[in-house]
Amino acid sequence: MIIVLKPKTSKKEAERVMAKIRENGLEPVPLFGIERTVIAVIGDSRTEALDGMKAMECIEKITSILKPYKLASREYKPDNTIVKVGDVEIGGKDFVIVAGPCSIESESQIMEIALFLKKVGIKILRASAFKPRTSPYSFQGMGLKGLKLLKQVKERTGLLVETEVMDVRDVKISAEYVDMLRIGARNMQNFDLLKEVGKVNIPVILKRGMNATISEFIMAAEYILSRGNKDVILCERGIRTFETAYRNTLDISAVPTLKKATHLPVMVDPSHSSGKRGLILPLSRASIAAGADGLMIEVHPNPEQALSDGEQSLYPEQFSKILEELKPICKVMGRNL
Ligand code: PEP
Ligand code: MN
Repeated sequence: MIIVLKPKTSKKEAERVMAKIRENGLEPVPLFGIERTVIAVIGDSRTEALDGMKAMECIEKITSILKPYKLASREYKPDNTIVKVGDVEIGGKDFVIVAGPCSIESESQIMEIALFLKKVGIKILRASAFKPRTSPYSFQGMGLKGLKLLKQVKERTGLLVETEVMDVRDVKISAEYVDMLRIGARNMQNFDLLKEVGKVNIPVILKRGMNATISEFIMAAEYILSRGNKDVILCERGIRTFETAYRNTLDISAVPTLKKATHLPVMVDPSHSSGKRGLILPLSRASIAAGADGLMIEVHPNPEQALSDGEQSLYPEQFSKILEELKPICKVMGRNL
């Protein structure tokens, strides 16, 4: 349920409406806009419960939203959300590429790639300290040591840093070391983890689960939003289909579909979508053309030696070339890169 207040309704009157909502055992989440205030009603909001409110003078309309998500919906917030990470804006005019290795492997590896990325104009470095690996025998990430290296890199290069969290117990500590958190595909429906990142005040990149529908994906974002963290970026990273020629199938339709249904920025990860470095350029082009707000791309100083995802990681020189090739497409789409 969404309640739209008349233009120029005072804050006091809005408070009265919210008190009424609470009286009905529901939770109001206000969005104070320049023009008007919109209040999302969270909880089991059957219309009868709020019938008595229709007579309130300051209410312009009460709309019931049939979709299960509210705070993520365009009905609640028609304007695009711009998520700020340091001085970078995701979801606005700038097209943002978050790049870096799959994992942090050593001080020299992360420093080398960070310096390279800085040189080619990248502002946000991705790198995982905690790794969700299919096999328990594969490299599991450097953990806390990795987080410390990321912070060092940030201090030395001025790059903003982003990393994955897999465990509720790591959320707060990770948020002290990095500028942005990531929930990986395998944890998209780890509801306790979603609630925990909903409580920190740094942005979160939420990746689509490989078997998640669009609605389930948006509901996962709703978990984070409903706990108070409004800085959520959705990331399409390919879904599981019958196709085995590549790692996952990039669901390009997800981009315009998510942009239409929600106000949140949408990114695409062509690296995990394809599993092949040869597909990064065409998939990136398609993502920009489909209306994505940014990309997440894996780049490694020496992909042959990578401890994870070497096959899909770009060589630095390939990455620079791809960046140049993407610029004209961004321009056509009215985005700055
Ligand atoms: C990653 O981005 O490092 C990753 C593991 O991706 P995904 O969760 O999409 O598989
Ligand atoms: Mn990876």
